[in-house]
Amino acid sequence: MTLLMTTFAGVAHARAADDPIALARAGTAAIEARRFGDALAAFTKAAEMQPSDASLCFGAGVAAFMLGKNEVAQARFECALARNPALLPAAMWLADLHYRAGRLADAISIYETAQQRSPKPHDLQPQLDLWRKELALQNRFRDARSEHFVVLFEAAADEPFAADVIRRLETAYRRIVSTVGVSPSQRITAVIYTRDQFNDITRLADWSAAAYDGRIRVPLGEATKEAGELDRILSHEFVHALVSQVGGRTVPAWINEGLATVLEPAGSADVEAMARTGERRALSQLPGSFVGLSRHDAELAYATSAHAVRRLIERRGIDALVALLEDLGQGAPFARAFQQRLAMRYDDFSASVARDSF
Ligand SMILES: [Zn+2]
Repeated sequence: MTLLMTTFAGVAHARAADDPIALARAGTAAIEARRFGDALAAFTKAAEMQPSDASLCFGAGVAAFMLGKNEVAQARFECALARNPALLPAAMWLADLHYRAGRLADAISIYETAQQRSPKPHDLQPQLDLWRKELALQNRFRDARSEHFVVLFEAAADEPFAADVIRRLETAYRRIVSTVGVSPSQRITAVIYTRDQFNDITRLADWSAAAYDGRIRVPLGEATKEAGELDRILSHEFVHALVSQVGGRTVPAWINEGLATVLEPAGSADVEAMARTGERRALSQLPGSFVGLSRHDAELAYATSAHAVRRLIERRGIDALVALLEDLGQGAPFARAFQQRLAMRYDDFSASVARDSF
């Protein structure tokens, strides 16, 4: 199967060099196979050759978005909308990109324009209502800044807490950047909410201690009153921000969550203890995101992920894992990059995690 796909892609690539239709087909196949680097190259070239076709810019935008190349993705989605202002998926992806970057007003304005052109304007209304509500809230927020972070918070009375959060984030930054050897290229935003605001905006399961979706979101509560737990939460979410800046959006959840857990100030022993050896699953059986899991399944998924990442770091070193993330950010297919950087087949490692035989 792998051989056939490689051959097919090779043939398509050779034929595609001067044919926008073949290039578009190669780009689509690359997106389906999650080879986003190849997809970006194919769609970008096809879009240059076919200046009237909006879908080619859109394809390039999706590939760039998945690679975490946000500025390229924005330009490609804008290109798609310039070519065809009624291309709803381009508007939705572009709005999502702005939203994740904290540019709510831009996200809303794109949705409003899309709504005027959509044959089903009511479909966009629920999202628009949520974003308007969040923008009204955000407009009331104040900010505190440091070298690497901006912290947003609502009440003046929370200013000392925000200053404390920013100090703890900078401490986590120094520790983690010196451990992994890479640093984020952009300043990271963290938003402090009440638990009700957090639930309204993120709609995550009640076991979620915090979230990262382009910005770190932290609910105030019992957990954040306790210094150790606050440090754990902030460190964990900072690692997600770092992983997304280095590896883009194709990093498997088990690596993202496993690394964030292993790099918590107290390490991952407590989380790993949630799953006994027999309860761990193969990594390939874990879902692409853990957010929809029940508390019990989430505990097993985090335990499995932390165990797997810790063992990988022990065996191959953290530099190899970071190199894998960098490859993913450049668009390398996961299984190939895994084998190259970690010197074992992903399928073998995935299965061995369940058996604990690696
Ligand atoms: Zn996490």
